[in-house]
Amino acid sequence: MSSGPYREEMFFLFGLTTREHLQSTRSASCRYCGRFAPQQVIQRRTKISVFFIPLLTVNKTRLQVCTNCGGTSRINGAEERALVR
Ligand SMILES: [Zn+2]
Repeated sequence: MSSGPYREEMFFLFGLTTREHLQSTRSASCRYCGRFAPQQVIQRRTKISVFFIPLLTVNKTRLQVCTNCGGTSRINGAEERALVR
């Protein structure tokens, strides 16, 4: 054996964690059901974690969820500002 008496092995435990939290609720007309109903703005963050410690945010999206029909759509920053105003 040429690799010597010791062999070190390192392995990392990677994972992706997704967290969602409710940012705001605002009444607006829904693009799915057409009703004027409270729309929840939810921020979803996906993080890479190593040994269960979150390190990097890899994905950040905002979702708008209709409380009437449950229709979910992604919103961008401009749409969110328009909604929150
Ligand atoms: Zn709806």
